[in-house]
Amino acid sequence: MLTAEQREIRELVRTLARERIAPRAAEIDKTAEFPWDVVELYRENGLFGVMFDETYGGVGASALMTLVAIEEISKHCATSGLILAVQELGALGIKLAGTDEQKQRFLPRLASGEWLVAYALSEAGSGSDSAAMASEAKPDGDAYVLNGSKRFITNAGVAQLYVCFAKTDKTAGHDGISAFAVEADTPGFKVGRIEPKLGIKGSTTGELFFDDCRVPVANRIGDEGEGFGLAMRVLDRSRPGIAAQAVGLAQGATDYALEYARGRETFGEPISRHQLVGGMLADMETRCEAARRLLYRCGAVIDSGAEGPELTKLSAMTKLFCSDVAMAVTTDAVQILGGYGYMQEYPVERMMRDAKITQIYEGTNQIQRLVIAREMLRD
Ligand SMILES: Cc1cc2nc3c(=O)[nH]c(=O)nc-3n(C[C@H](O)[C@H](O)[C@H](O)COP(=O)(O)OP(=O)(O)OC[C@H]3O[C@@H](n4cnc5c(N)ncnc54)[C@H](O)[C@@H]3O)c2cc1C
Repeated sequence: MLTAEQREIRELVRTLARERIAPRAAEIDKTAEFPWDVVELYRENGLFGVMFDETYGGVGASALMTLVAIEEISKHCATSGLILAVQELGALGIKLAGTDEQKQRFLPRLASGEWLVAYALSEAGSGSDSAAMASEAKPDGDAYVLNGSKRFITNAGVAQLYVCFAKTDKTAGHDGISAFAVEADTPGFKVGRIEPKLGIKGSTTGELFFDDCRVPVANRIGDEGEGFGLAMRVLDRSRPGIAAQAVGLAQGATDYALEYARGRETFGEPISRHQLVGGMLADMETRCEAARRLLYRCGAVIDSGAEGPELTKLSAMTKLFCSDVAMAVTTDAVQILGGYGYMQEYPVERMMRDAKITQIYEGTNQIQRLVIAREMLRD
């Protein structure tokens, strides 16, 4: 499915992930500290550039190669994989609806990794039902005045740029939402509590506050009222990034369980020779392969320029399937290691904790099923 050149890039990322990121994974999980050294590694090796056009300092935006890179890194460390996925999530709004001036101003900094970016849609009272958000943006001269808050925002406190959604017309429902690029040092913008959590511990998840925060009109992304549509178009293209994180986790856990099963003996032979264990390994590998095929197809479809319902359905199916595979496979990996699988000394319990979030963020899997069914039922 990959060209020779794409396989070469994959090999490069694979080596980087194995040699430089894998040895850091357990420590990142244990300390729950954001891994700036990993960001530096990406900067040095131009990994952020995979997602951006050459015009903005990238190497030619390829959705497929972005997914491959996230997958390879997430085999060893899902927190590190997420750093790439969220750079794409945050940049997409500007790529899709930004003016030329906004693109020139922001994208080169994101392509080099000088700046990290965040995507701020969810609020305390609105996750799945994101259009129920309470944050407001009122026009005032050459600026909008933002008031409100966001919750569970990845990269809170480490990003220099926040793509935020707020209501410019409280009476217009979905059509009353607009998108804004908010720089971290804007007066009235503040990062609140960073949440302790079950997995992807090195990734920051936090609250954002807007208190009479003046954002220049020049930072509105797209027209007034187009924010919700943009948020959904972004998710169509970013959900596969979470699917890539999930496939990486699933394959990483399968590879580890296989090696363990070769070496661990019970009743006089390696556990891999017990058919019940061999059967689990076979199912795990099959699920990984099926998930990867769907993932790569989704990447190729995005690169072909697909838009609208076809992409919405495929991207939701990819996120749904790959994340369910990740949860099932990482849980099986823990089972194959027995008691050792439950111990922090081995990586599979971390992988299982990390896998859970892929079924929740960027739309829970219940929401993905609703989206898929809705698209199936269209005339
Ligand atoms: C670690 C982490 C990082 C995150 N990063 C970001 C980020 O960077 N940016 C951002 O904007 N958000 C982010 N989120 C928020 C995330 O997208 C939401 O948590 C998620 O969409 C679910 O929203 P909720 O938590 O409000 O749950 P709710 O919407 O309250 O849902 C609760 C439960 O009800 C189910 N449910 C809700 N509605 C329906 C329905 N109609 N039919 C069937 N079931 C339903 C859900 O599936 C879920 O099981 C992050 C969350 C976490 C935990």
